[in-house]
Amino acid sequence: MSPFPAGCVSLIGAGPGDPELLTLKAFHRLQQAEVLLYDNLVSPEILAWVPSTVERLFVGKMPGNHTLSQDEIGPLMLEKVRSGRRVVRLKGGDPFVFGRGGEEMEVLLAAGIGVEIVPGITAALGAAAAFGFPLTHREHAQSCLFVTGHLKDHSVDLNWPALAQPRQTLAIYMGMTGIDTISRELQAHGLPGDTPAVLVFKATWPEQKLHHATLATLPQVVREQSIKSPTLLVIGSVVSLSLQKHSV
Ligand code: SAH
Repeated sequence: MSPFPAGCVSLIGAGPGDPELLTLKAFHRLQQAEVLLYDNLVSPEILAWVPSTVERLFVGKMPGNHTLSQDEIGPLMLEKVRSGRRVVRLKGGDPFVFGRGGEEMEVLLAAGIGVEIVPGITAALGAAAAFGFPLTHREHAQSCLFVTGHLKDHSVDLNWPALAQPRQTLAIYMGMTGIDTISRELQAHGLPGDTPAVLVFKATWPEQKLHHATLATLPQVVREQSIKSPTLLVIGSVVSLSLQKHSV
Protein backbone atom coordinates (compact mmCIF):
# COMPACT_ATOMS: atom_id res chain seq x y z
CA MET A 1 0.00 0.00 0.00
CA SER A 2 1.52 3.36 -0.98
CA PRO A 3 1.75 5.96 1.81
CA PHE A 4 -0.81 8.75 1.93
CA PRO A 5 0.90 11.71 0.21
CA ALA A 6 1.84 14.12 3.00
CA GLY A 7 0.05 17.45 3.07
CA CYS A 8 -2.06 16.57 0.04
CA VAL A 9 -5.76 16.08 -0.51
CA SER A 10 -6.57 12.78 -2.18
CA LEU A 11 -9.30 13.35 -4.74
CA ILE A 12 -10.91 9.98 -5.34
CA GLY A 13 -13.49 8.51 -7.69
CA ALA A 14 -15.86 6.08 -5.99
CA GLY A 15 -17.11 4.57 -9.26
CA PRO A 16 -20.73 4.39 -10.42
CA GLY A 17 -22.25 2.67 -7.37
CA ASP A 18 -21.35 -1.01 -7.03
CA PRO A 19 -18.81 -1.02 -4.17
CA GLU A 20 -16.76 -3.75 -5.84
CA LEU A 21 -15.98 -1.32 -8.64
CA LEU A 22 -13.97 0.86 -6.28
CA THR A 23 -10.26 0.68 -7.11
CA LEU A 24 -7.90 -0.94 -4.64
CA LYS A 25 -6.02 2.35 -4.34
CA ALA A 26 -9.22 4.21 -3.42
CA PHE A 27 -9.99 1.52 -0.85
CA HIS A 28 -6.53 1.94 0.70
CA ARG A 29 -6.88 5.73 0.85
CA LEU A 30 -10.23 5.37 2.64
CA GLN A 31 -8.51 3.21 5.25
CA GLN A 32 -5.78 5.84 5.69
CA ALA A 33 -8.08 8.89 5.79
CA GLU A 34 -8.68 11.08 8.82
CA VAL A 35 -11.24 13.38 7.24
CA LEU A 36 -13.66 12.41 4.46
CA LEU A 37 -15.73 14.79 2.35
CA TYR A 38 -18.22 12.94 0.16
CA ASP A 39 -21.12 13.46 -2.25
CA ASN A 40 -24.57 11.95 -2.58
CA LEU A 41 -23.73 9.56 -5.47
CA VAL A 42 -21.41 7.49 -3.25
CA SER A 43 -22.88 4.15 -2.18
CA PRO A 44 -23.54 3.57 1.54
CA GLU A 45 -21.65 0.28 1.29
CA ILE A 46 -18.48 2.14 0.34
CA LEU A 47 -18.99 4.54 3.25
CA ALA A 48 -19.37 1.54 5.53
CA TRP A 49 -15.77 0.58 4.69
CA VAL A 50 -14.49 3.87 6.11
CA PRO A 51 -13.18 3.44 9.67
CA SER A 52 -15.58 4.86 12.25
CA THR A 53 -12.86 7.16 13.63
CA VAL A 54 -12.80 9.19 10.40
CA GLU A 55 -14.53 12.58 10.48
CA ARG A 56 -17.20 12.44 7.75
CA LEU A 57 -18.57 15.52 6.06
CA PHE A 58 -21.42 15.21 3.59
CA VAL A 59 -21.04 17.99 1.03
CA GLY A 60 -23.34 16.72 -1.72
CA LYS A 61 -26.54 18.20 -2.97
CA MET A 62 -29.88 16.75 -2.01
CA PRO A 63 -33.11 18.36 -3.20
CA GLY A 64 -34.59 20.51 -0.43
CA ASN A 65 -31.63 20.13 1.95
CA HIS A 66 -29.21 22.89 2.67
CA THR A 67 -25.74 21.61 1.96
CA LEU A 68 -22.50 23.31 1.03
CA SER A 69 -22.12 25.23 -2.20
CA GLN A 70 -19.13 24.50 -4.40
CA ASP A 71 -17.52 27.75 -3.13
CA GLU A 72 -17.68 26.47 0.45
CA ILE A 73 -16.12 23.05 -0.24
CA GLY A 74 -12.68 24.44 -1.19
CA PRO A 75 -12.18 26.43 2.04
CA LEU A 76 -13.42 23.48 4.09
CA MET A 77 -10.86 21.13 2.49
CA LEU A 78 -8.14 23.74 3.05
CA GLU A 79 -9.05 24.12 6.71
CA LYS A 80 -8.93 20.35 7.25
CA VAL A 81 -5.67 19.72 5.36
CA ARG A 82 -3.98 22.68 7.09
CA SER A 83 -4.82 21.13 10.44
CA GLY A 84 -2.35 18.41 9.39
CA ARG A 85 -4.91 15.69 8.76
CA ARG A 86 -5.17 13.24 5.88
CA VAL A 87 -8.08 14.47 3.78
CA VAL A 88 -9.96 12.39 1.22
CA ARG A 89 -12.41 14.02 -1.16
CA LEU A 90 -14.65 11.23 -2.52
CA LYS A 91 -16.85 11.75 -5.56
CA GLY A 92 -19.19 9.55 -7.58
CA GLY A 93 -17.77 8.04 -10.79
CA ASP A 94 -14.53 9.69 -11.79
CA PRO A 95 -13.57 13.05 -10.26
CA PHE A 96 -12.41 14.44 -13.61
CA VAL A 97 -15.52 13.52 -15.61
CA PHE A 98 -18.21 16.13 -14.91
CA GLY A 99 -17.31 15.87 -11.25
CA ARG A 100 -15.95 19.38 -10.67
CA GLY A 101 -12.72 17.69 -9.63
CA GLY A 102 -10.84 20.12 -11.83
CA GLU A 103 -12.33 23.11 -10.02
CA GLU A 104 -11.54 21.67 -6.59
CA MET A 105 -8.00 20.81 -7.69
CA GLU A 106 -7.46 24.41 -8.85
CA VAL A 107 -8.59 25.81 -5.49
CA LEU A 108 -6.17 23.52 -3.64
CA LEU A 109 -3.22 24.15 -5.95
CA ALA A 110 -3.79 27.92 -5.80
CA ALA A 111 -3.50 27.66 -2.01
CA GLY A 112 -0.25 25.71 -2.31
CA ILE A 113 -1.77 22.36 -1.33
CA GLY A 114 -0.87 19.27 -3.34
CA VAL A 115 -3.52 17.03 -4.88
CA GLU A 116 -3.48 13.34 -5.64
CA ILE A 117 -6.04 12.01 -8.10
CA VAL A 118 -7.33 8.44 -7.85
CA PRO A 119 -9.53 7.67 -10.86
CA GLY A 120 -12.92 5.99 -10.64
CA ILE A 121 -15.11 4.18 -13.14
CA THR A 122 -17.26 6.80 -14.77
CA ALA A 123 -21.02 6.31 -15.20
CA ALA A 124 -20.77 5.65 -18.95
CA LEU A 125 -18.40 2.73 -18.42
CA GLY A 126 -20.47 1.41 -15.53
CA ALA A 127 -23.70 1.61 -17.54
CA ALA A 128 -22.17 -0.06 -20.61
CA ALA A 129 -20.83 -2.92 -18.51
CA ALA A 130 -23.99 -3.33 -16.43
CA PHE A 131 -26.25 -3.68 -19.46
CA GLY A 132 -23.83 -5.25 -21.90
CA PHE A 133 -23.55 -2.69 -24.67
CA PRO A 134 -20.16 -1.64 -25.98
CA LEU A 135 -19.43 2.08 -26.37
CA THR A 136 -17.39 1.52 -29.50
CA HIS A 137 -17.71 -1.31 -32.01
CA ARG A 138 -16.12 -1.62 -35.42
CA GLU A 139 -19.51 -2.00 -37.12
CA HIS A 140 -21.34 0.69 -35.14
CA ALA A 141 -19.25 3.48 -33.66
CA GLN A 142 -15.67 4.63 -34.08
CA SER A 143 -15.91 7.28 -31.41
CA CYS A 144 -17.69 7.93 -28.15
CA LEU A 145 -18.32 11.38 -26.74
CA PHE A 146 -18.90 12.14 -23.07
CA VAL A 147 -21.24 15.11 -23.03
CA THR A 148 -22.92 17.15 -20.32
CA GLY A 149 -26.56 17.99 -20.91
CA HIS A 150 -26.54 20.57 -18.16
CA LEU A 151 -24.53 23.75 -18.37
CA LYS A 152 -23.64 26.17 -15.58
CA ASP A 153 -26.46 28.57 -16.49
CA HIS A 154 -28.99 25.69 -16.92
CA SER A 155 -29.11 26.12 -20.70
CA VAL A 156 -28.35 23.31 -23.15
CA ASP A 157 -26.11 24.90 -25.74
CA LEU A 158 -24.02 22.14 -27.26
CA ASN A 159 -22.08 21.75 -30.50
CA TRP A 160 -25.02 20.04 -32.23
CA PRO A 161 -23.39 19.48 -35.67
CA ALA A 162 -20.48 17.64 -33.96
CA LEU A 163 -22.84 15.56 -31.83
CA ALA A 164 -25.16 14.61 -34.69
CA GLN A 165 -22.47 12.69 -36.59
CA PRO A 166 -23.10 9.12 -37.73
CA ARG A 167 -21.10 6.18 -36.35
CA GLN A 168 -20.51 7.63 -32.93
CA THR A 169 -21.91 6.99 -29.47
CA LEU A 170 -23.10 9.84 -27.26
CA ALA A 171 -22.98 9.31 -23.50
CA ILE A 172 -24.91 12.26 -22.09
CA TYR A 173 -24.60 13.01 -18.38
CA MET A 174 -27.16 15.15 -16.57
CA GLY A 175 -29.38 15.07 -19.63
CA MET A 176 -32.82 14.70 -18.05
CA THR A 177 -33.84 18.36 -17.74
CA GLY A 178 -32.67 19.12 -21.26
CA ILE A 179 -34.13 15.97 -22.84
CA ASP A 180 -36.56 17.82 -25.15
CA THR A 181 -33.83 20.09 -26.49
CA ILE A 182 -31.37 17.21 -26.91
CA SER A 183 -33.88 15.09 -28.86
CA ARG A 184 -35.06 18.00 -31.01
CA GLU A 185 -31.65 19.51 -31.82
CA LEU A 186 -29.94 16.23 -32.68
CA GLN A 187 -32.73 15.44 -35.13
CA ALA A 188 -32.67 18.97 -36.54
CA HIS A 189 -28.93 18.51 -37.18
CA GLY A 190 -29.40 15.28 -39.10
CA LEU A 191 -29.37 12.37 -36.67
CA PRO A 192 -32.27 10.07 -37.65
CA GLY A 193 -35.22 9.97 -35.22
CA ASP A 194 -35.05 6.16 -35.16
CA THR A 195 -31.47 6.12 -33.82
CA PRO A 196 -31.48 3.70 -30.85
CA ALA A 197 -31.11 5.24 -27.40
CA VAL A 198 -31.21 4.04 -23.80
CA LEU A 199 -31.80 5.71 -20.47
CA VAL A 200 -29.83 4.01 -17.72
CA PHE A 201 -31.01 4.78 -14.21
CA LYS A 202 -28.54 4.15 -11.36
CA ALA A 203 -26.24 1.83 -13.30
CA THR A 204 -24.54 -0.83 -11.12
CA TRP A 205 -26.81 -0.11 -8.10
CA PRO A 206 -29.30 -2.82 -7.01
CA GLU A 207 -32.16 -0.65 -8.32
CA GLN A 208 -30.57 -0.06 -11.74
CA LYS A 209 -32.96 0.08 -14.70
CA LEU A 210 -32.57 0.26 -18.47
CA HIS A 211 -35.20 1.92 -20.65
CA HIS A 212 -35.00 1.54 -24.42
CA ALA A 213 -36.11 4.40 -26.66
CA THR A 214 -35.23 6.06 -29.93
CA LEU A 215 -33.87 9.56 -30.36
CA ALA A 216 -37.38 10.73 -31.27
CA THR A 217 -39.21 8.98 -28.40
CA LEU A 218 -36.76 9.96 -25.62
CA PRO A 219 -38.84 12.82 -24.14
CA GLN A 220 -41.97 10.67 -24.13
CA VAL A 221 -40.18 7.73 -22.44
CA VAL A 222 -38.71 10.02 -19.77
CA ARG A 223 -42.17 11.40 -18.98
CA GLU A 224 -44.12 8.14 -19.19
CA GLN A 225 -41.62 6.22 -17.04
CA SER A 226 -41.04 9.20 -14.69
CA ILE A 227 -37.30 8.75 -15.09
CA LYS A 228 -35.34 10.61 -12.46
CA SER A 229 -31.69 11.45 -11.89
CA PRO A 230 -29.10 9.92 -11.79
CA THR A 231 -29.72 8.69 -15.29
CA LEU A 232 -27.28 8.41 -18.14
CA LEU A 233 -28.52 8.86 -21.69
CA VAL A 234 -26.74 6.85 -24.37
CA ILE A 235 -27.52 7.43 -28.03
CA GLY A 236 -26.19 5.35 -30.92
CA SER A 237 -26.68 1.99 -32.60
CA VAL A 238 -24.35 0.24 -30.09
CA VAL A 239 -27.17 0.23 -27.55
CA SER A 240 -29.12 -2.21 -29.74
CA LEU A 241 -26.49 -4.79 -28.72
CA SER A 242 -27.56 -4.53 -25.08
CA LEU A 243 -27.81 -7.89 -23.29
CA GLN A 244 -30.99 -6.96 -21.46
CA LYS A 245 -33.65 -5.64 -23.78
CA HIS A 246 -36.71 -4.11 -22.18
CA SER A 247 -39.44 -2.71 -24.36
CA VAL A 248 -41.14 0.41 -23.14
N1 SAH B 1 -18.26 12.14 -11.97
C1 SAH B 1 -19.43 11.35 -12.33
C2 SAH B 1 -20.48 12.18 -13.04
C3 SAH B 1 -21.12 13.23 -12.16
S1 SAH B 1 -22.36 14.15 -12.99
C4 SAH B 1 -18.97 10.17 -13.19
O1 SAH B 1 -17.82 10.12 -13.62
O2 SAH B 1 -19.79 9.27 -13.41
C5 SAH B 1 -23.84 13.33 -12.45
C6 SAH B 1 -24.47 12.58 -13.59
O3 SAH B 1 -23.74 11.41 -13.86
C7 SAH B 1 -25.88 12.13 -13.33
O4 SAH B 1 -26.83 13.14 -13.59
C8 SAH B 1 -26.02 10.99 -14.33
O5 SAH B 1 -26.24 11.48 -15.63
C9 SAH B 1 -24.62 10.40 -14.29
N2 SAH B 1 -24.50 9.26 -13.35
C10 SAH B 1 -23.72 9.17 -12.28
N3 SAH B 1 -23.81 7.95 -11.71
C11 SAH B 1 -24.68 7.25 -12.47
C12 SAH B 1 -25.20 5.93 -12.42
N4 SAH B 1 -24.82 5.07 -11.47
N5 SAH B 1 -26.07 5.56 -13.39
C13 SAH B 1 -26.45 6.39 -14.35
N6 SAH B 1 -26.00 7.65 -14.45
C14 SAH B 1 -25.13 8.09 -13.52
